Amino acid sequence: MNSRRTIGFIGLGHMGGPMAANLVGAGHRVLGHDLMPEVLTAAAGTGVEAAGSSTQVAAAADVVITMLPAGRHVLGLYREEGLLAAARPGTLFIDCSTIDVADARSAHEAAATAGMRALDAPVSGGVVGAEAGTLTFMAGGGDAEFAEADPLLAVMGGKTVHCGGPGAGQAAKICNNMILGVSMIAVSEAFVLGESLGLSHQALFDVASTASGQCWSLNVNCPVPGPVPGSPANRGYRPGFAAPLMAKDLGLAADAARAGGVHAELGLRAAELYAAYAEGSGADHDFSGIVGTIREQSAPRTSRNGDST
Ligand code: NAD
Repeated sequence: MNSRRTIGFIGLGHMGGPMAANLVGAGHRVLGHDLMPEVLTAAAGTGVEAAGSSTQVAAAADVVITMLPAGRHVLGLYREEGLLAAARPGTLFIDCSTIDVADARSAHEAAATAGMRALDAPVSGGVVGAEAGTLTFMAGGGDAEFAEADPLLAVMGGKTVHCGGPGAGQAAKICNNMILGVSMIAVSEAFVLGESLGLSHQALFDVASTASGQCWSLNVNCPVPGPVPGSPANRGYRPGFAAPLMAKDLGLAADAARAGGVHAELGLRAAELYAAYAEGSGADHDFSGIVGTIREQSAPRTSRNGDST
């Protein structure tokens, strides 16, 4: 395989920008496009060649990577905006956006119908991981497509898991983030309960972080300041992983649970709580800031001198 390939990259925002820059850094020619001129200019500053349109990118690329806000953007670009039609037959389309599993499968079908090949490869690790090239990729698609994509994903990430056929990467992403959303609420409720019982944050952390309560939401992204100096709680809940993105991912998980008849009571409730938080005070906060909402809503009861009702 030709190691210096022309990579098309569409969607050069918070995630796509640094991912494309890492591909440039690894010696690839990266031809990029974004609807926002200032985003495209910033990408050009990292060595991405700015193209005038997405179809121009697809026509010249060996592989086309998309990193877009939602499924409708991916499907709109693939179909209505003519991305698939513009590419050379057999071009590999890798969609790294987080989108609905059903939309991901539609994207695979649209690609196959157009004579193209596809892989869904959403990521975890956020902007920090995108910049450092340490993202985790969760891939869905055929073995040959995965094998071709893997060296490129390895440039942008630290770990890649081939989760199964079309849509399996998206499925893994929303299942993982359902665990994350529910566990952050559980950890936050436990800290607020501890506060009402006179337990210090550090004492609860010292016990739970090494006992059966340990999890990423506690051990790494601890929602209260102090025990984990690097967590967003120590910098006024500046993201990190922004609450609106958590709300989006939980919404996708909740939709999938409803569609599949899965009794995911806590996942659905977490989706409601994060939707409300993201629309309110959490709009520009890390998702761990939900601890503040739980505390606020608890205040009338816990302020009664420990006299819980
Ligand atoms: P972003 O809004 O910063 O970037 C998306 C870019 O896509 C924008 O610059 C936008 O102009 C561009 N765009 C939209 N439609 C387009 C079109 N038709 N043609 C060309 N460009 C188009 O979003 P982001 O934070 O980079 O997130 C991208 C994806 O990654 C989302 O699906 C998100 O859920 C997922 N994700 C984000 C994070 C994170 O921490 N930001 C973490 C994991 C996954």
